[in-house]
Amino acid sequence: MKPAGLQRRHLLAAGSATLALPAQALDFAAPRAPAAMRASIDRIVDITVGIRPFRAQGPRIEAERRFGKTLVHHYGHGGSGWSLCWGSAQRALALVQVAGLRPGARIAVVGCGAIGLTTARTAQQAGYKVRLYAKDRPPRVHSSAATGLWTPDSRIVTSEHASEAWTAGWEAMARASFKVHQSYLGLPSGPVEWHDGFVVADEDFDQPIAGHVGEPDYPDLHPRVADLRPRGKALAAGEHPFRLAHVRRFTQLVFNIPAYQRLLLDDFARDGGELVQREFRQLRDLGTLPERLVVNCTGDGARMLLGDTSLTPVRGQTARLIPQPEVDYALIYRGRNVVALPRRDGLLIAAMGEHDFGSDDLRPDRAHSEDAVRRLAALF
Ligand SMILES: Cc1cc2nc3c(=O)[nH]c(=O)nc-3n(C[C@H](O)[C@H](O)[C@H](O)COP(=O)(O)OP(=O)(O)OC[C@H]3O[C@@H](n4cnc5c(N)ncnc54)[C@H](O)[C@@H]3O)c2cc1C
Repeated sequence: MKPAGLQRRHLLAAGSATLALPAQALDFAAPRAPAAMRASIDRIVDITVGIRPFRAQGPRIEAERRFGKTLVHHYGHGGSGWSLCWGSAQRALALVQVAGLRPGARIAVVGCGAIGLTTARTAQQAGYKVRLYAKDRPPRVHSSAATGLWTPDSRIVTSEHASEAWTAGWEAMARASFKVHQSYLGLPSGPVEWHDGFVVADEDFDQPIAGHVGEPDYPDLHPRVADLRPRGKALAAGEHPFRLAHVRRFTQLVFNIPAYQRLLLDDFARDGGELVQREFRQLRDLGTLPERLVVNCTGDGARMLLGDTSLTPVRGQTARLIPQPEVDYALIYRGRNVVALPRRDGLLIAAMGEHDFGSDDLRPDRAHSEDAVRRLAALF
């Protein structure tokens, strides 16, 4: 159904000429009622499980000399990998440059998730030739399971480790990343889009909500980058279509993950990048690569490859309902653990499970996603 503003046209006399203007140009006060989400379990077409590579002390971005090579470690981005990827890649690139490698040289990047792909692209843009090695490529990487929200502060560090110096570095990374994401707006496949959304709640927003079971204390980093998106607004009863009394509108950057990954892979190949399927069973195997510098973007894979016990896997599951292009808003059901996102590849439904922190269980739990869909359905 077209919005009313597109169905009728208002006539406006300007001097002797008569201009036809769409009604919405004049009708500022009439908000368009958002289309209802068709939240029913028989519309679930896919359920994906992925692992967030969480480190209490934040991502590891550091270089070391091993096996006669420079290894730049670049992993551990928790629930913020897509949001922070570009800024983080710029930090990793600085270490490549410090290692004395001149543009034109070939470097290896291991890993083809959000971090590996954006590191490879950032290095190419700086003039390096890049060969990407990965056990798996999209859509069989954990990054493919991501919800796709701009959440640079999601499971990225614990309160204990968020010193002022760390936080300032994180802020710089978030801002740099945000800037690059904006350059992907307006493209035909829509890798990055802005959407309005609603946070709805049974209780007043002043009421605290319980954190996820068994998780550490996370710092509130949001105020540091609050200026990067429009301020939210509380809506009165007549201003929204939901059954609940407590509703706020917000505006949110959304990543259409499949389109973003496809575009990055295409751009990488177009600029002469090579992608080699290869699994490394131990760190020493990286020493056999012909490249003198290797950027290790293996995400949760670094737990096995390096035996890095500072990484904690955090399981996450997303379900997709059949795409509904008429739904152009996100929905967060506060306190009830449901997020719905209007992605191009489907209406994406995310909900944390009770035992996800510390779990690397990749088996989908259909009942859990069905529960989330039912909670969502109750809103319409
Ligand atoms: C359910 C869920 C929802 C999320 N939602 C969001 C969100 O809304 N916004 C956001 O910003 N972030 C989100 N994230 C977080 C984000 O997806 C992660 O931070 C990101 O996936 C980490 O990317 P990565 O490239 O480090 O790891 P991965 O995507 O896991 O990629 C690792 C790569 O390394 C390769 N590899 C690993 N080990 C080896 C080896 N031994 N040999 C060779 N190759 C190897 C893999 O094959 C893969 O190619 C979410 C994550 C999950 C799971």
